[in-house]
Amino acid sequence: MTKYKEEEKRALMDFNHARTDEQKDLMEEIAQDGVCPFCQENFIKYHPKPILKENAHWFLTENMSPYKGTRIHFITVYKDKHVTMSNEIPSEHMGQMFELINWAIEKHKIEGGAILIRFGDSSCTGGSVDHFHAHLIIGNAKGTDEGAFKIKKKVGYMKAK
Ligand SMILES: [Zn+2]
Repeated sequence: MTKYKEEEKRALMDFNHARTDEQKDLMEEIAQDGVCPFCQENFIKYHPKPILKENAHWFLTENMSPYKGTRIHFITVYKDKHVTMSNEIPSEHMGQMFELINWAIEKHKIEGGAILIRFGDSSCTGGSVDHFHAHLIIGNAKGTDEGAFKIKKKVGYMKAK
C-alpha cells in the first residue's frame, strides 16, 4: 500500500473542492491515514456507498456526495493502481469502464445524461480527488419541473481578465 508524505496527502485531495461536511470529514480521516481514497484497498475501506458492479479494472458505485439536483450520480473508479491521467490507462481498460456505464444506463433506463471525467492535477480541474474516475450524471428531463435550473459543474478555471 502506498504511503504518502503530508504534502503529498494534501495534494491527493483538494480540500477546497469538497462540497459537504461528510466529504470533508472523510477526507480529513483519509489524509491522517496518508492514503489515496480511491486506490482500491482504501476505496473498499472508506467509500460509504455500496459497490454496484465491478469488473477486472473498474468499480461502479454511487457518488458519496451526489451533485445537487441529480437524479442518479454514479462514479467509476480505476482499480489497477493509482493513476491520474487517461494516458496512463490502456485503452482496452477504458472499454471496460464503458461496460459498467452502459450497464447502469440499461439498468436504470437512462435516456440522457453526462459522463464527466476530470484528469490530472486538481488545481487545473476543480476536482477533489485526483485518482482517475468518471462521473455518470443524470438529471431530470427539461419540463419535468417549472423553473428547474440547469446542473452546472466545475471543469477548470477561467482567468478573471
Ligand atoms: Zn489512488
